Amino acid sequence: MNNIIRITTLVENVSHDPRLMAEHGLAFWIETGSGNILFDTGQGKALFSNAHSLGINLEQAAAVVLSHGHYDHTGGLEKLLQTADRVKVYAHPAVFRHKIARDGAGRFYDVGMPFLDPKAFRKQAEELIRTEKASEIGHGLWVTGTIPRVTEFEDHSDDRFYIDKEGRQPDNLIDDQALFFEASRGVVVLLGCAHAGVINTLKHISQLTRHKPIYTVMGGMHLGDAAHGRIECTIGALRDFKIERLGPAHCTGGVATREFFDAFPKKCFSCPVGTVTEFEVN
Ligand SMILES: [Zn+2]
Ligand SMILES: [Zn+2]
Repeated sequence: MNNIIRITTLVENVSHDPRLMAEHGLAFWIETGSGNILFDTGQGKALFSNAHSLGINLEQAAAVVLSHGHYDHTGGLEKLLQTADRVKVYAHPAVFRHKIARDGAGRFYDVGMPFLDPKAFRKQAEELIRTEKASEIGHGLWVTGTIPRVTEFEDHSDDRFYIDKEGRQPDNLIDDQALFFEASRGVVVLLGCAHAGVINTLKHISQLTRHKPIYTVMGGMHLGDAAHGRIECTIGALRDFKIERLGPAHCTGGVATREFFDAFPKKCFSCPVGTVTEFEVN
């Protein structure tokens, strides 16, 4: 009999269920049959509240995978480590770097991982399972490691991220990575924010899987400030990949999300908090 991998959206910007908290952030709970993996942790508040409401026991997490170091993906890590102290943490070591953003008024503010206890921070940095390169998490799941930036249209020059508070050194977020696994119908990809670009991410996964068809892509696509041309090129490239199911979420942005639903009306789905998607795996 085939196994099922079951993914529950635990944190997301939108909730349609009054029991579940919406929060700018992302977390997916992945049940594999041989172990449970948490992909990202949201800002920290909604993760535990929603897990409780959905009957998900975070103490049973065998591993947590961090897509990158921004607070809306790593804010729940400290409490998770206190809750599930044997959990393994997979991430690029740059998740611990200073991460600064600049707002529209030119002010700089911290968007990095909030660790309240510096001792926990140091311990975690030492014990991290580093994923600079593509790595197997186990249970059939993989992370991409650092994603090469190869497309011309996924331009990051308008991103307002820095590693210093004066805004001198841009942060190209080399820690950004996606999680993927091979399901019976094709490869399934979970994105954090896709700061590397969703098409760069898919091209990298396509190489890593020796060009297996990509069946589903879900998560944040970071197209909120993207120029129209970039959204159009992204849609064209998604069409070339013949994606069968597309779940734009979190930081994809309203305009890009609408355009995806227009371009792929039968393939697009939304994944607010509480959404469960299941995939058969061989
Ligand atoms: Zn981010
Ligand atoms: Zn984000």
